[in-house]
Amino acid sequence: MATAHANIQALTAARFEMPAKFTQFCENGGQPLGGYIGGQSVPGSMNATFETVDPGSLDVLARVCEMGEAEVDRAVTAAQAAFAGNGVNGWRDFPVDERCELVMKLVELADRDRDVLLACEIHDGGKVSELAEGDVDQIRACAEYFCDVARRIPLGDGPSLDVADGVRGFTYREPWGVVAGIIPWNYPIVLTSWFMFPALLAGNCIIIKPAEDTPLSALYLAKLAEEAGFPPGVINVLPGRGELTGQAIAEHPGIRYISFTGSPGVGQHILRTCDRHGTRMKREMGGNGAAIVLDDADPEVVARMIGRHANQHFGQTCCTIHRVFVDQKIADDFIDAERHFFENLKIGYQAEEGTQLGAVINPTQMSRVLKAQSETVARGGQPVVAGGPAEVPGKKGFYVKPALYRTQPGVQCNPQEVFHTFATICPVSSAEQALELANSTPYGLGASVWTKDVDRGIALAKQLRDGTCQVNCHNSIAYGLPYGGQGISGGPGAGVNCEDTFRDYTQVKAVYVSEYPEA
Ligand code: NAP
Ligand code: MG
Repeated sequence: MATAHANIQALTAARFEMPAKFTQFCENGGQPLGGYIGGQSVPGSMNATFETVDPGSLDVLARVCEMGEAEVDRAVTAAQAAFAGNGVNGWRDFPVDERCELVMKLVELADRDRDVLLACEIHDGGKVSELAEGDVDQIRACAEYFCDVARRIPLGDGPSLDVADGVRGFTYREPWGVVAGIIPWNYPIVLTSWFMFPALLAGNCIIIKPAEDTPLSALYLAKLAEEAGFPPGVINVLPGRGELTGQAIAEHPGIRYISFTGSPGVGQHILRTCDRHGTRMKREMGGNGAAIVLDDADPEVVARMIGRHANQHFGQTCCTIHRVFVDQKIADDFIDAERHFFENLKIGYQAEEGTQLGAVINPTQMSRVLKAQSETVARGGQPVVAGGPAEVPGKKGFYVKPALYRTQPGVQCNPQEVFHTFATICPVSSAEQALELANSTPYGLGASVWTKDVDRGIALAKQLRDGTCQVNCHNSIAYGLPYGGQGISGGPGAGVNCEDTFRDYTQVKAVYVSEYPEA
C-alpha cells in the first residue's frame, strides 16, 4: 500500500468512504438502535440512550438504547427458553452440523456486508483499514476453526470405566446454558467472534455486551444472525455501560458462565461479583508487553519491527510492546532507529489515506495516556520522543503523539499498561538481566525475543512468564494455539482459540451407575 512514509512500515490507512448501507443502519429510520433480545429489537425500559461517535472526528454515528437490569433479565429468560426449547428442539439439542450450518450462513452474510463491518471497525472503533481488513477476516477464520473443533470434540457421554464390581462410571459433557460475553472496545469484531463462535457451537445461548464505545458491530451481527435464521433467543446483544449493563450481567444468577475480555481491574471485580452466585468465568485481560533484543540483532531491522508492533492499533492492542530491553552493545543504534520510527509515524484521521497513528478511543483514554507520559518522566524515564497532545487539522478527535523513553535497570518508570504508542527502552548487560526485568511485572500476556540465533531465542522465550512467548515476531495469534494470559493478564480457563477454549464453554459431570442392589 502506498504511504506518505514508505519507510515507516506501520499498519496504514487507505481512504475509506462510509458505505450507504452503514449510514442507513445507523440512522435506523430516525429511531435509536435497540438492543437485540429474543429475536426482537428492544428499546429498553429505562428510555435511556447514548451516542456512539467516531473517535477521530467526534461525529455522532448512531444513537443506541441502553439496556438495564430488566433487559438483562429478559435476555436471560429468552436465552434459557431458546436453550431448552420444548425439551427436544432447543439449541442444546441441535445436531452439531445444523449449528455449523447456521454459523457459516452468518459468515456468508458477514462476507456480503463486509464493507458495513469494516465501517464499524474504522468509524466506530477508530481503526486504520489495514488492521480493520485483517480483523474482519477473523470472522470466517474463527468460525471455520470452531466448526471443525465442534465436529471433532463430542459432547454427551464419554467412554465408560468399570469402577467397582457392578459399577461403571462415565463423563457427561454438556453446554453451560446461558453464557455472556463482555467485550472491550479495541477489537470489537475479533473479540465478539472469538467469544460467540465457540460458545454457540458448544450449544450455549449467548448474551453479548459490547463496549459502550463500540456497540455497532455486535448489533449489526445480531441483524445478520436473524437473517441467517438463528432461532430467537440464541443470540442476544445488550448495549450499555459497564457499570450498569455489565454489572447487571455479572449479578444475574441465570447466566452460568461469563467470558470477559478487558482490563484486569474490571475482570477482578466481575469475578468477585459472579462468584457469589456460582457463575464461572474466563478472563482475557491487559498486559505490559516486553521485547528483548539480543546483541546479535540488527538494530535498524528490529527497531522497525518492534515499532510496527508497538503501534498496532496505536498501541491499543492488549499484548502490544510497551517495554524493550536491548543489549547495551547495540542500545544507542537501536534507540536512534526507534526514535526515527516513532517520530515519523503519520498522525491523522483513521479513514484518510496514509494515516498510521489515529485518535485514541475516548477522552478518558486520552487523559490516561497523557498522565502516563508525564508520570514516566517523573519516575525517571528520559524522553526520546516526547509525546503530548496532537492536532489533526479539521478534526476534533482524541489525538496523542507517540512517546518513547530511555530508562535503566532499577528505574521502575513503566509499571502499567498504557495502551498507546508508548515504550520505554532499557539497555541491559545480558540476556539473563533482560529476562529478569521482562518478567518483573504482575502482567503476563505476550512478550518476544529478537535474535538471529533462533535456538537461543526459543530457550529464552520459554522462560518468559507470559501466555504468548515469541521469537522474532509479536502480536501473534493462530487458531489451534491458546491465546491467554498468566499473572493478572488472564485465567482461569484455557485462553482463546484452541480446543480447550471450546471445552471451556462446556461443563463435565461424572456419572456413576450401579446394578440395582439385590434385596
Ligand atoms: P474495560 O474497561 O475493562 O471494559 C471491558 C468491558 O467490561 C466493557 O464492555 C466494559 O463496558 C465492561 N465493564 C466495565 N465495568 C464493568 C462492570 N462493573 N461490570 C461488568 N462489565 C463492566 O476494558 P477496556 O478499556 O474496554 O479495554 C481495554 C482492556 O482490554 C485493556 O486492558 C486490554 O489489554 C484488554 N484486552 C485484553 C485482550 C486479551 O485478549 N487478553 C484483548 C483485548 C483487550 P463499557 O466499556 O461499556 O463501560
Ligand atoms: Mg464509537
